[in-house]
Amino acid sequence: MMRRFAALALAGLMTVGLTACGPRLDPDEAQESVRVYAMDTEMVFSVYGQQSVKVALAAEAEMYRLENLLSRTREDSAISKLNAAGGAETPVGAEVCALLLAAETYSWATGGAFDVTLAAVSSAWGFTEDAYRVPPQVELEALLTRTGMDKVQIAADTAALAEGTQIDLGAIAKGYAADRAAALLREYDAPRAMVNLGGNVLAWGNRPDGEAWRVGIQDPAQPMAADAYVGILNLTDAYAVTSGGYQRYFEEAGTTYHHIIDPATGHPAASDLTSVTIVAAAETLAAGETGPGTLCDALSTALFVLGEDRAVEFWRSGAYPFDMVLVTAEGRVVTTPGLVDRLTTVAESGYVYETVS
Ligand code: ADP
Ligand code: MG
Repeated sequence: MMRRFAALALAGLMTVGLTACGPRLDPDEAQESVRVYAMDTEMVFSVYGQQSVKVALAAEAEMYRLENLLSRTREDSAISKLNAAGGAETPVGAEVCALLLAAETYSWATGGAFDVTLAAVSSAWGFTEDAYRVPPQVELEALLTRTGMDKVQIAADTAALAEGTQIDLGAIAKGYAADRAAALLREYDAPRAMVNLGGNVLAWGNRPDGEAWRVGIQDPAQPMAADAYVGILNLTDAYAVTSGGYQRYFEEAGTTYHHIIDPATGHPAASDLTSVTIVAAAETLAAGETGPGTLCDALSTALFVLGEDRAVEFWRSGAYPFDMVLVTAEGRVVTTPGLVDRLTTVAESGYVYETVS
């Protein structure tokens, strides 16, 4: 049995938010929605303002551009060329180098829990090719000798991998795409937008009725239920990204194997968390610059691997400006103080709510 839920996470409630938006503040304000299938996920852009059509079309083109640049399943992408270069220095462009540098920074910051060199390990489990299997331990051990950011050399517009090392930006590319979407919204002066890149959400401005955008956090125990939330985030000019083992997995001999790998073992992370949502404020970004979207995507994956205690410790270190909502396997929802006023809890969810300090 195999399932994919990536596009469902955080999606349901926003649709409600959009359709139940109430009277518009400005009756002349145009709205445009586009759906884009890129980066292995469904993306939805709902953009408001005088230039909404232009922004929506520009965003669509930008998503295809990024997929063609970053996807390792597109043969002619910069990442595929790097992966196929057999260790040779490869021209990938300054933008890809900036994203690789960000990935390297998050890898170091999280003690290696975030690792974009797990491509071959992911493939061994069949997650990239949808050919699921449990790889023999010897195979994983051999593959793990080729992983780690120390196997990646990054220059101004070229990069080189150690022989046998392969890059997969799946845990960071959609977050970077959200950063680029934000840059477009700013460029076209869009007053408000709701962007959902398969669970990577950007809430731009307020809803047309002046209220914050509502973003539901899916109950990981009920991944298929359209209205099962552990909480509802009320967001303005913010990114929210959720990672969880429930988003993509397969079952074999009664065991569930999910797609977030612990780089230390090569196995699906044995996390005491069922989902991690990271929230960060929007910022002004220069062309090609990574920002809060990239941060949220990387940290949602990494803190899932680290588990509750080390995730809280990481947040307490103050290394990065973000808030989070952790859902634990034992049924608690752990929130940082910055979200207390922005998270509507769901009394009937059965979860126990806690705030860390
Ligand atoms: P999704 O892409 O489903 O929204 P994530 O952002 O958590 O979820 O990314 C998971 C993807 O990232 C996996 O499918 C795999 O390609 C890759 N990956 C798995 N484990 C890690 C890890 N520890 N660090 C970085 N990337 C990972
Ligand atoms: Mg991620």
